[in-house]
Amino acid sequence: MVTLSFDNGPEPEVTPHVLDMLAKHSIKASFFVMGRKVVTREGRALAMRARDEGHWVGNHTYSHTHPLGELDRATALREFDQAEESLGWLEQRPRLFRPYGRAGKLGRHLLHPAVVERLVAGRYSAVLWNSVPGDWRDPEGWVATALEQIAAKDWSLVVLHDQPSGAMEHLDGFLMALKQAGEEIVQEFPKDCVPLREGRVAGPMDLWTSARLD
Ligand SMILES: [Zn+2]
Repeated sequence: MVTLSFDNGPEPEVTPHVLDMLAKHSIKASFFVMGRKVVTREGRALAMRARDEGHWVGNHTYSHTHPLGELDRATALREFDQAEESLGWLEQRPRLFRPYGRAGKLGRHLLHPAVVERLVAGRYSAVLWNSVPGDWRDPEGWVATALEQIAAKDWSLVVLHDQPSGAMEHLDGFLMALKQAGEEIVQEFPKDCVPLREGRVAGPMDLWTSARLD
């Protein structure tokens, strides 16, 4: 099984194409958006289009400059809250949050304890990942990498990026290859990628949360 997610958008030059390809293949996915890209009129319209077409939309921080676990409490909360404000129109439940990992790395740098409190209080689901084919750094080769990673797992949650790297020109071919490989593509997330589900701790949060006290 495969779940697809698109991070760091929306981008007017790329997101419409991604949405068109997902519609062509009747696939529902998730878009983890940057708050600073959703506050523009164009960005908000694209995120709304994704929502209207049945995709899930989640908070992926406001500025996406530092993993939250590397920030102090006030700055980490601001990154989260400002992105939520940019998504004030989104009535989706549960609300979704995906931390910024820096090149797809998992670890204690992902979350600040104050943000975890927010997520619990707001009954958020925190959505991690288990497949990072590196589309942004390998716009030509990522499809082969993704297919290899997917073949090696029962259920992959793949991180792609609706960013102007050129990688998404190969999305159509990738989706055709997934179907040819007999992969079932689902919108739901694999359990082991969701350590916090609707505000309930479902996995070891200390693996993903810094020990910062400030
Ligand atoms: Zn990101």
